[in-house]
Amino acid sequence: MGLKEYMNDIVEAVTTTAKGMRITARYGVDPKEEVTLQYPEERWEIPAGYRGFLNNDVKTCTACTMCVKVCPVDCISLESVRGADKKMVLASYDINIGRCMYCGLCVEVCPPKSLKHTSGYEMASVARGELILHFIAEDAAEIKARVARQVAEAAVKAEAAKAADLSSDLSSEAARAAKEEAAKGEPKK
Ligand code: SF4
Ligand code: SF4
Repeated sequence: MGLKEYMNDIVEAVTTTAKGMRITARYGVDPKEEVTLQYPEERWEIPAGYRGFLNNDVKTCTACTMCVKVCPVDCISLESVRGADKKMVLASYDINIGRCMYCGLCVEVCPPKSLKHTSGYEMASVARGELILHFIAEDAAEIKARVARQVAEAAVKAEAAKAADLSSDLSSEAARAAKEEAAKGEPKK
């Protein structure tokens, strides 16, 4: 390398450094040029339609399983049992947000619209299991046992009502037969 090229390189290095520092200085002193927020004290406003963590309103959910079937990565799981009123009762409803890719398909297909995206996006964990959201706190086995008891009680009540109806029908039939018998025994005028 000749002396001229060497000097040119030095001039170029000084010039480009000065240019870079000028931009750095501008961003450092001009508040209009701020591109960062003091997270977590400050946060960007979440845009409309943002697909954050999912939330299921389990009181409205009908346990139809459409969300489970449509999820491409199998991150929703639920357990349900048929209740005394023939409707399905949720025993558990879990979403693995560590696996979810926030495609929104489950929200689209949910008939009662109980499943929705929230604006939540912050969660840190060192254990994968903590990324599974449990929407029903009560133990699934306890819920199933309670529903089974309710179904059994309803069946007993239905049987008793049926037996009462049958007994009432038989009594009416007996009374009618007795009346007919009595009418036959009366002397003709
Ligand atoms: S947003 Fe997509 S990936 Fe996440 S649970 Fe719903 S269907 Fe599955
Ligand atoms: S699609 Fe909706 S109603 Fe059906 S199980 Fe999923 S969350 Fe519940």
